[in-house]
Amino acid sequence: MNRSQGFLAGCKLKELEDILVVQGLPRYRARQIFTWVHRHCALEISDMINLPRTVRESLESQWIIHGLCEVERQVSQDGTEKFLLRLVDNQSVETVYIPESDRAAVCVSSQVGCALGCSFCATACSGLIRNLRAGEIVGQVLWINRFHPVSNVVFMGMGEPLANLSEVLRAVEILNSPAGMGIGMRRITLSTCGLVPEIRRLADLGLQVGLAVSLHAADDEKRSQLMPINRRYPLASLVEVCSHYVAATGRRITFEYALIAGFNDSEGDAEALGQLLRGFNCYVNVIPVNPAVSGFPRPVDAAVSLFVEKLFERGLNAAVRRERGSDIDAACGQLRHRSLEKS
Ligand code: SAH
Repeated sequence: MNRSQGFLAGCKLKELEDILVVQGLPRYRARQIFTWVHRHCALEISDMINLPRTVRESLESQWIIHGLCEVERQVSQDGTEKFLLRLVDNQSVETVYIPESDRAAVCVSSQVGCALGCSFCATACSGLIRNLRAGEIVGQVLWINRFHPVSNVVFMGMGEPLANLSEVLRAVEILNSPAGMGIGMRRITLSTCGLVPEIRRLADLGLQVGLAVSLHAADDEKRSQLMPINRRYPLASLVEVCSHYVAATGRRITFEYALIAGFNDSEGDAEALGQLLRGFNCYVNVIPVNPAVSGFPRPVDAAVSLFVEKLFERGLNAAVRRERGSDIDAACGQLRHRSLEKS
């Protein structure tokens, strides 16, 4: 890739039409190209055999599709597949395919590394290396779509999607495009550590994308220990902006709660969570913490069920998130972390 080349996978159909028309090509060529990229998941412009050779050569001098290639692929017994994908600059990101009975989700990364420094998260170890471009985010879904049909996309891989909001929103629009993969807005979820101004911005856009908020603790002292971002945007401001999101979009929010043995799994913690989210249109996903890399102790299964029971008693809608791919390095940032350790 040279400096002037762009990612076709990150280009909207309308933009491509305008670019091609300026170059003297017919408008319909854009839709042909868009179909190759987003429906046939082409990897090379030379594969676009219904385009004249001269057009393909001209495209090749200006564009690459997404530049991803596979470094490693792990397949779990439960059908979960984890991919380590290399980017054009030799950085790498993780992408996970998660099949369920009624849907097939792809968990995408939005950044290489992450700046937020959550103490339990493997991605935090490397700090932020760079933001992904929209074409590299869409490219991850296209990569999986070559093997399996995809119905849902969750931004729960490496990075903080709301810290790369413009490229993430561009990717969302392209994934949603009816001329491409046509993934419904309600089937796309952004997960955030709680960047309050960006949540507000997102709410005011009025999109129907799902929002998941990583809460992990219901009092400021504990949450700040786990997540430094809580010092900048404490719980009161976070819950306030989440109410605004629900009011503006009509969509229920999911709160993620990584359960850590002896830290945030007591009766008092359940009570604090019940108080914090009382009357809130939300859903609480309780995830037993993955101890790999973080070293945080994972609660036993009975303790996890008991915690969820305590949330029910307080009127909260809650469930344990079934762990997927536990026989592979399926926690956020783990595969890349291990791959870096080897190299
Ligand atoms: N930055 C975003 C999205 C990426 S992480 C966010 O913070 O939401 C996706 C989810 O995995 C988040 O809820 C994150 O807190 C959680 N997570 C990260 N490491 C984990 C671990 N070791 N155990 C359990 N959950 C973890």
